[in-house]
Amino acid sequence: MAIRFSIDEISKSNRHTLGRDIDVAVFRLIRFMDLEKYLGRGAHGVIYECGRELGQSLNPKNIDDLIKFCEEYKIGKIEVVNKNPIQIRVYECISCSGLPEVGETLCWFEGGFIAGCLEKILNKKVRAKETHCAGLGDDFCQFEITTL
Ligand SMILES: [Zn+2]
Repeated sequence: MAIRFSIDEISKSNRHTLGRDIDVAVFRLIRFMDLEKYLGRGAHGVIYECGRELGQSLNPKNIDDLIKFCEEYKIGKIEVVNKNPIQIRVYECISCSGLPEVGETLCWFEGGFIAGCLEKILNKKVRAKETHCAGLGDDFCQFEITTL
C-alpha cells in the first residue's frame, strides 16, 4: 500500500539548519531516474498520471491558484499565452530549465500536474501536450491543452 501524505504533512520539515530548500540537481536526479527499467515503456505516462493526481488533489479554483502554487513551490513561472486553445508556458521549469537538448520533451510530471489542475478548474477531462521544452532546445516549456 502506498504511503500517502497531505500537502501540509509533506511540507513540514524539521531541517533546522539546512532549511526547506534542496538543490535542483537532487530533484532532477530523482525525477530522471531510469524508471523505464522498472516500469517499462509506459513510465512517462505513469509520471504524467502522478502529476495529474497531485494537480487534482490541490483542488485549485482558478488559474491564479495554479500560478501561485507553482511559484510558492518553485515548480516554475506559469503564464497563460493563449486561451483557445489553452496554451500554458512554464519559465524556469524545475525539471528541464537549463538541461541540454535531447530531442524530446521531458516534463511529463508538469504536464500531468497542469492537466489535473485544469480538470478541477474547468470541470472537464483534459490532456496537456508539451510542445516546447529545454529537451527540444527551447528556453521555456509550453503545453497545449485539449479537452477530451
Ligand atoms: Zn520541459
